[in-house]
Amino acid sequence: MPSSPLPHARPGRTPRTTAANLGYPRIGRDRELKWALEKYWRGDLSAPELGVTAAELRAANWQLQRALGIDHIPSGDFSLYDQVLDTAVTLGAVPGRFGPPFDLSSGGDALARYFAMARGSHGVAALELTKWFDANYHYLVPELAPDQSFRYASRSTAAMVAEAHALGIATRPVVIGPLTFLRLAKRTDGGPTIELLDALLPAYADWLADLVALGVTELQLDEPALVLDLSAAEVHGYHRAYEVLRAAAGDALADARLSVATYFGGLGDNLALATALPVDVLHVDLVRAPDQLADVLAAAPESMGLSLGVVDGRNIWRTDLAAIYDRLAAAIGAGHPGGIQLAPSCSLLHLPVDLTRETGDDHELASWLAFAVQRLEEVALLSRALNGDTEAQLGLAVSTAALAARRRSPRVSRPEVQRRVRDVGASALRRKAGYAERVAEQQQRLGLPLLPTTTIGSFPQTAEVRRLRAAFRRGELDTKDYRTALEAATLDCVRRQERLGLDVLVHGEFERTDMVEYFGDQLDGFTTTSHGWVQSYGSRCVKPPVLFGDVARPKSMTLEWSRFAAGLSERPMKGMLTGPVTILQWSFVRDDQPESTTGFQVALALRDEVLDLERAGLPIVQVDEPALREGLPLRRSDREAYLTWATEAFRLAVSGVRNDTQIHTHMCYAEFGDVMAAIVSLDADVISMEASRSGAGLLSELSEAGYPNDVGPGVWDIHSPRVPSAAEVDALLADAIAALGAERLWVNPDCGLKTRGWPEVEASLAELVGAAARARAALTSVGR
Ligand code: GLN
Ligand code: ZN
Repeated sequence: MPSSPLPHARPGRTPRTTAANLGYPRIGRDRELKWALEKYWRGDLSAPELGVTAAELRAANWQLQRALGIDHIPSGDFSLYDQVLDTAVTLGAVPGRFGPPFDLSSGGDALARYFAMARGSHGVAALELTKWFDANYHYLVPELAPDQSFRYASRSTAAMVAEAHALGIATRPVVIGPLTFLRLAKRTDGGPTIELLDALLPAYADWLADLVALGVTELQLDEPALVLDLSAAEVHGYHRAYEVLRAAAGDALADARLSVATYFGGLGDNLALATALPVDVLHVDLVRAPDQLADVLAAAPESMGLSLGVVDGRNIWRTDLAAIYDRLAAAIGAGHPGGIQLAPSCSLLHLPVDLTRETGDDHELASWLAFAVQRLEEVALLSRALNGDTEAQLGLAVSTAALAARRRSPRVSRPEVQRRVRDVGASALRRKAGYAERVAEQQQRLGLPLLPTTTIGSFPQTAEVRRLRAAFRRGELDTKDYRTALEAATLDCVRRQERLGLDVLVHGEFERTDMVEYFGDQLDGFTTTSHGWVQSYGSRCVKPPVLFGDVARPKSMTLEWSRFAAGLSERPMKGMLTGPVTILQWSFVRDDQPESTTGFQVALALRDEVLDLERAGLPIVQVDEPALREGLPLRRSDREAYLTWATEAFRLAVSGVRNDTQIHTHMCYAEFGDVMAAIVSLDADVISMEASRSGAGLLSELSEAGYPNDVGPGVWDIHSPRVPSAAEVDALLADAIAALGAERLWVNPDCGLKTRGWPEVEASLAELVGAAARARAALTSVGR
C-alpha cells in the first residue's frame, strides 16, 4: 500500500457525505422495455420507436434519481438486453459469425446484429447465457478468440452520457472493469482469458478517454470479481490494469475521479489489492459483508474516497436506518479525508422498481419492504442525516419502528414452527434404510423394466392452458369450470404418456404457472407482489414470491392433482414437488434469521406433503432442486456451510418415507464438478439431470465419483424444438450405458417440457421410448 497520497488523488476534500447509486433497473416501472422489445422482435415496432422508448426510460430514471436527492447518478447502466453484451460490443469483441465489430449507437443494422448476438438469428447461434455471479440475472458470455483483438468500437455509453447531459444531468458512467470482463468471458480454445489483458487495455483506455472528453467528472468501473477467489495472474492483472489505464488516459483522467465498485460480497483476501489500486473511490458491499467496514477504513489510503454499500441491492427488506446511522457515525464520525459516499450495496438491477406500484392492500407487509426507488430514498435520507440535517435524523426512526413492528408481528413468528425446526434430529435427515435395501423394495413394488423411461414433470403449457389459468386468476372462470378444464388436460396428458409407452408417468403440472410461485401461493409465511418484477435476462422478468415469516403448510398443496392423475392409470405416477433450496433461491427470503433455518422450515412443510402423497398411494415422489448449484456461494471458503444445510434441507424434506417409496430429484445443469459430493449425499433414489448438450463430461464425472444411486442423464435436449433422430438418442443412451452401466440407468429428457409444443414432444418421446426398447433388447440378447 502506498504510504503517501497517490499523485492523482485529491486529498483534503470536504468530508461531506454524498448519496450515490451504482445502477438502476432498466426494465421500467410497468416493464415498458419488455413490451417494446418484444414488439420490436415481432416486427410491430421500428428501431427508431424502440430507441424512443429506451430514451424515455433513461430520462425518467435519471430525473427520478435527481429528484430523490442522489448526487452520483449512473449512466450507461441501461441496456437493451444485457450490460455484458454491451461491454463486448463496445470493446469490439464480436465473434466472426456476427460480422465485424459495430457501433451500437450508429443505427443501420447495428441493432439487428446486437440482437443476433443476444438471441441468435437464421441459424447463427447466440452467445451463451449464464448466471451473473450468484444473482438470478443472466448475462451473455463474451466469446474471445485466443488471439482476440479489441478496439473501442461502439459509443453507446458515450451517447447515453451525452443524452443525460442534454437533459441537464451530470452522470457517472458505469463500465464493467477489465478484469471482471475477462473473468466473465470465455476463450474459444478454453484457455485463460486473463492472457488477453494486454490486448484489451488500450480499448479500455480509449473508451474512458472518450467519456472524459465529454466532460464527465467521475467514472465507475465495476469490478465485482474482486470479491471472488482470484488467481495469481488476476491479482497481478488488477495492479497492472489500473496502472496502465491511469498512465494511458493520463491527462484525460486527471479531470475525472475513478471509482471501482465491488459487490456481492466482502473483499476478504483481496482487501489489500483493492485498496492499493490507483483509483479515487472504492465501493464496498457492507450488506453482504458488514464487518469489512473497519478493515476497509484501516486499509484504504486516507486520500481514497469510500463508497459504502449500506442498503441491500439484492433483497427487498427495508433497512434499519437508525442502526446504520449509529454504526456509520461511530466508524466515520470524524469524516474520512477522501470523502464518503453512501450507496446501495450493488446495482438496483436486482430489485423490483417501485413499491408504490403495488396494488395489494397489505399495508402492513408493504411497510417492511423497499424496492429500488425506496432504496434510493433510504440512501438519500441517511446521507442527509449524516450531514447533520436534523429533520432527516428524526426520519430515520420511522424505518426502525417499522422493523420493530415486523419483528413483533404474529404473522412472522410461529413458535410451533420454530420448535419443530429445533427438534429436528439426525434421524429425520436419513432414510430408514440404505439405497440397496430400498431399491430392492421399490423394484418389488414398481416392477419396472431395465432402463425405465420417464419425464421430468411438466408437459406443454399450451396457449389454451395458459388462457385457462389467466381467466381463472381474473375471476372469469369459476373453480368448478377451471378444475374440469384442468382435469381434461391432465387426462389427455396421461393418456398420451400411456400411448407413448412411458414407464413412469407424471400429471403434467398444468395447474402451475411457476414451480416456486405455486408453492409460495399455498404456504403460510409467503406472499406475492403485484408488480415485483425483476429482469432475469433480456426481456424476461420474474416475480419472486416474498418469504417473510415462519413457514407452515395449512393444507396439502399437490395431493389433489397427483391423486387425480394416479387414479387414471395403472402405471406408476410420480408426485411432483419443488425442493426447499430452490424455493428459497427463487424467492425474496427474510433476512432476520439464518437461511438454513428458513430452509428447514420449508423442508418440513414439504416433508408433510411428501408423506401425504405416500399415504395417498403415490409410489414415487420427485423433489426438484434445479437451483441447488446456483445457490453455491461465490467464495470457496463459504461453500461447505451452504452445501451442508442445503443437502440437509433436501434430506429433511424426503426422508420421512417408507423404503418402498422412491424419491427422485432433478437438476437442470451438467456442471456437477464442484457439487458432486453434495449430490451424492442427497441420497435420492433417482436423479435426472441435463446431459445431452454436455454429456461426456457429466458421464465421466458421475462414473469417476462412483455415483451410487440411480441416474437419468437426459438424452433429449428439450431446449431446442428440434426432434432428435433415433440415431442421436441411441448414441447418447449408448454412451450413458457405457459409462454407468444399464442396471441403474433411467431414460428421460433433459428437463421439463412446458415450453415445448405437443407435436415435437410426442415425436421426441417416441424416439426416447424407442431407444430404450432397442437398448433393452440388445442387452437382453447378450444376456446383460
Ligand atoms: N418438474 C419441473 C418441470 O418439469 C422441473 C423444472 C425445472 O427443472 N426447472 O417443469
Ligand atoms: Zn430442469
